[in-house]
Amino acid sequence: MRPRLLLAPAGHGKTQFVIEQIRATLASEPLSPVIVIVPNSIQAAGFRQRLCAAGGALGVDVHTFHTLYAELLTRAGQPIPLLLDPVRIRLLRDIVDDLCERGAMTHFAALRDKPGFIALLRNTIEELKRARIFPNDFSASVKGLGSRLEEISIVYTVYQEWLQKQNWADNEGRGWLAAIALESNPTLFADTRLLAVSGFDEFNPTQLAVLSLFANRAKETIITLTGDIQNPNRSAHHRFHRAQQAITSSLSIQPEAMDSSSMLSADIANVEASLFENQQSSIVNPKSEIEFIEAQTRAVEARAALRWVKARVVRDGMKLSDVAILARDLEPYRPFIEETAAEFGIPLRIVGGQPLNENPAIAALLALLSLPAEDWSRRALIESWRSPYFDFSEYGINSTSAATLDEISRVGRVSQGLSQWREAFAMWEKRKVTEFDEDLPTLDSKVFAEHTGSARLSNLQSQETLESAFNSFVDLLTPPNRASIKEYVAFVESLIGDDMTSPNENGLNVVVNARANQSTLERDVAALSAFKDILRGLVLAESVLENDSLAYADFYKDLRGAVESATYTIPAESGVFVASALDGRGLSFEAIVLMGLSEGEFPKQEREDILLRESDRAALNLETKLHGDEATFFYQAITRGRQRLLLTHPYLAEDGQAWEPSPFWAEIRRLNVGSLEVRVRGDAGGVDPAEAASKVEWVESAQDFDIHIKNGIEVLRARMNPKASGIYEGELFDLSERFGAGHGWSASRLESYGTCPFEFFVAYALGLEPRTPLEEGFDVRMLGSMLHKILEEVYATDDPLKNLQERARKVFESAPGDYGFRPTALWELQKVELTRVLEKTIRALDEASQGLAPFRMEARFGMGEPSLVLNTSAGEVRLHGYIDRLDAAPDGSLRVIDYKAGSAPISSNHLKEGRRLQLPIYALAARDALGLGEVSSGFYWHIQKAEASSLKLEKFEGGVKAAFETAIKHIGAHVAGIRAGHFEPKAPEEGCPSYCPAVGFCWRKK
Ligand code: SF4
Repeated sequence: MRPRLLLAPAGHGKTQFVIEQIRATLASEPLSPVIVIVPNSIQAAGFRQRLCAAGGALGVDVHTFHTLYAELLTRAGQPIPLLLDPVRIRLLRDIVDDLCERGAMTHFAALRDKPGFIALLRNTIEELKRARIFPNDFSASVKGLGSRLEEISIVYTVYQEWLQKQNWADNEGRGWLAAIALESNPTLFADTRLLAVSGFDEFNPTQLAVLSLFANRAKETIITLTGDIQNPNRSAHHRFHRAQQAITSSLSIQPEAMDSSSMLSADIANVEASLFENQQSSIVNPKSEIEFIEAQTRAVEARAALRWVKARVVRDGMKLSDVAILARDLEPYRPFIEETAAEFGIPLRIVGGQPLNENPAIAALLALLSLPAEDWSRRALIESWRSPYFDFSEYGINSTSAATLDEISRVGRVSQGLSQWREAFAMWEKRKVTEFDEDLPTLDSKVFAEHTGSARLSNLQSQETLESAFNSFVDLLTPPNRASIKEYVAFVESLIGDDMTSPNENGLNVVVNARANQSTLERDVAALSAFKDILRGLVLAESVLENDSLAYADFYKDLRGAVESATYTIPAESGVFVASALDGRGLSFEAIVLMGLSEGEFPKQEREDILLRESDRAALNLETKLHGDEATFFYQAITRGRQRLLLTHPYLAEDGQAWEPSPFWAEIRRLNVGSLEVRVRGDAGGVDPAEAASKVEWVESAQDFDIHIKNGIEVLRARMNPKASGIYEGELFDLSERFGAGHGWSASRLESYGTCPFEFFVAYALGLEPRTPLEEGFDVRMLGSMLHKILEEVYATDDPLKNLQERARKVFESAPGDYGFRPTALWELQKVELTRVLEKTIRALDEASQGLAPFRMEARFGMGEPSLVLNTSAGEVRLHGYIDRLDAAPDGSLRVIDYKAGSAPISSNHLKEGRRLQLPIYALAARDALGLGEVSSGFYWHIQKAEASSLKLEKFEGGVKAAFETAIKHIGAHVAGIRAGHFEPKAPEEGCPSYCPAVGFCWRKK
């Protein structure tokens, strides 16, 4: 019987017709061979499901062309191994590397390591093979057309020769062989009773060759295609029409109209019939079968779409599998859809899988494996220790280890490299004191912890145990320098450990840990299984390609490349189908959402292929890539839902600019004039509580707030008030026990409270430190310590200027180790510049010290020496600290100097406001605690500017005595405020300092 080509528009039951034909055939001739060919495995699964539901799957083979080629070759007695994708990628990489090394590839040499280049080559070869352009024909055609095409032809030739030598084939090669097998064996598949071809919108030359040979020997062949025999040139059918012409000329048949009527609801059927046609809508009063939502952003759009989906399931009683979400490009929507579906409790079946490298377990594993390949980078190493996917307990790494290692790496300024890590361990002991408090440079850590009440240091793991754990970790993670892929894969698998349900001694128990979290178990186990498939693929590629041993870094690069191009699928029995508009073709649902109908999204701009350009295609007689098929894709998408259709688009782009709807949106609006658009803003506040699709939405939309929400609103109001006041602005309980009469105070802490009480609370009551990105070189604290040290040393000699060079050299020499920084390339120049600055400052200081003589340097009070005890409004307050310098005047009175490495101006207002108290405190300490005599003057000395501050004790309003009284008044007030728990944030007028540990979260930051 001649093959029949039956045409009907979308939604006219073509698949249903094929199923009925199969059932009728099997009813009259039970168990007779029936073959169905559909475009892809998604449609094959969908077809089988519908056939089962209709009760007629027995004896029916549902194939894609690729599986059909394999079956044909097996039946012909010529099975041929399939070249799997990981092996193909590896083979092409080897070919390219070899050609580059031999100088036979120059045009693409710079691209050989670029991500995606090998995959592009693979796609180009695939396309040439699909078009049945053989390597020698291609080489002959491109001769003299330039190195780009000639190099592609060389790769293609070498690739094909390798396949033939090994007697392997790729899918397209199997197609060629299948066509030859059919030609040479007239009995092959000759018993086929019915051949049905359904769901296609294009055919390539190999498919047409196989189909025409097969169709002529099957007793009956039915090919269904979307089309309209009455209106063959419809714009929406453009792509189908090309497919129809290809079939009719290959099989020498004429199309017939399928006897059918639309199975779509009235509104959707109207749109189907009128789309892109120059005619008016036949619907006078549209019902609510087609709806429109304009959402503020993609995230809001995904939420609105899923709320609509949930309504179809809950209100309309549709099954989850009856509903689908489509978008021309799914990727930008994927995270929003996944997140909102999890919140709404909607299971999803996402087509195309999830990117494997975005799975948290795989990302952690890749970061761990990168360590030996990428020189033990600090960040990846610490994150590996923190990862919940790895069990390092056997190596002495516990929950506090990562925190301690982080501290050590910060002290040692580690960026990467085992030598830096080892230096950091050596620096740790020395630095852990000075890092925390410049007032207390000689205290050991224990005294410091007691003194500050900070338990942070004592919580850290001891250095010795940690260093030994670190060494065990490095041993575990160090692979052989060179090995075969098989050996490296064994190394990786030994790290992952066994696939068990409870921990055991082998490896890091990655699968066991992944199973421990019920909410992510399925996702992570599926991803790990895909990862292991990749490892197997690499081993297979090696055994086929007979590669030499390689360095670990090269193995890691291959592995990462394979993971980056792989996806994984979370098994789901049922769920809402989510796919790109192209993956949804040929499927049918009760209701669909089509998202992303914004300008530039759908229709998508077609781009020229960068390897085979349009001019090449014309010269080679290859099909163009620029078909202009977007209108057909849109037609296919909107006709997937039989009963309900929701169209959505975001009206704001990511940068907040207005985003116009797509012309396709306007086209449907033209055909469905009566239906209103719904604008959805970003918050759930506008949602009717009865429409809320999750608990979160219900709470957010509820007008009758519960007590927690009321409190939240109150906090927010207080924080938005320009003036900080009230119980939500740093008001704590009584702290007089913690900061009682026995507490020792330093000037810098009291100044911190005077500047911003909340900063004091965060830094000293909570003991938090700012986390700044690690940089090489010294920071401002280290600079201050170095300059202080040099000044202290030179002023201990008879001639400070003469001794400056030598003392500075010594201090600088040991500074990286003493203060814990890693010198940069500028260090030599910096040393010269700092020595010059110090020389200038010593000269200026000498100038300002006529008649005075240095008397004491780094004079300590408290901490083993008598403390300064002041009688304040808060009672007795005990103070400790270091006086940088005291000079003696001829009359025996003293001048106090405090060195400052920074250049921020310090005026008498700072003392009046209680923000600068150091100078009067040090003067009082010299006089009262150390009994060194009366102080008659004092200033801060800006080392780098080589000048004194404008605040001078003797020039303060009322003189030195008034400065003392002002300081004592503020000290009393500060201590009382701290004890009462008053810590309101007060941003300094000049802006919040970068070293404030609250800058990352403080709501009053300026
Ligand atoms: S960020 Fe500013 S306002 Fe906030 S605590 Fe720090 S200094 Fe105070």
